[in-house]
Amino acid sequence: MNETSDIHSKATKGAYILIISVTKPSVVNVGQLGELQLLPGLYLYVGSALGMGSTSLQHRLARHQLKTKCMKKHWHIDFITTLPYAKIPYIVVIETSRRLECLLSKHIAQLDGIRCPLKGFGSSDCSQCETHFYSYAKNIEQAVGLKLAIISC
Ligand SMILES: [Zn+2]
Repeated sequence: MNETSDIHSKATKGAYILIISVTKPSVVNVGQLGELQLLPGLYLYVGSALGMGSTSLQHRLARHQLKTKCMKKHWHIDFITTLPYAKIPYIVVIETSRRLECLLSKHIAQLDGIRCPLKGFGSSDCSQCETHFYSYAKNIEQAVGLKLAIISC
């Protein structure tokens, strides 16, 4: 397993899939959406960053990996990435200047082993997807392999 993952790619614009590993049961209170119950296992979060500077892909991915608990929760996913029992072992990065996140999210929703743990999570400004956050009942190698499946589709 290449631990450095795609995070060190030089891409400044793109879509990405955070592969999140939760190691202990956790309950997250996500404001208006209610409670999200997380069981140990893998979760996938789809996003994109197409800007420059603070809205660039590199800046966004670095932010997702911050563990600062006092960080202002700007996105739903911040509630999860700052959990003590959540790690991001891998990030799949797809370099693109097109807004591909919903296409990716719809593709992921069709996969075997995918479930939507909380409707609306990560997709409040999206009219097409039920969620941008999924639980994935597979192992890390299968999650990393999603990139090939996505690129070839
Ligand atoms: Zn969407």
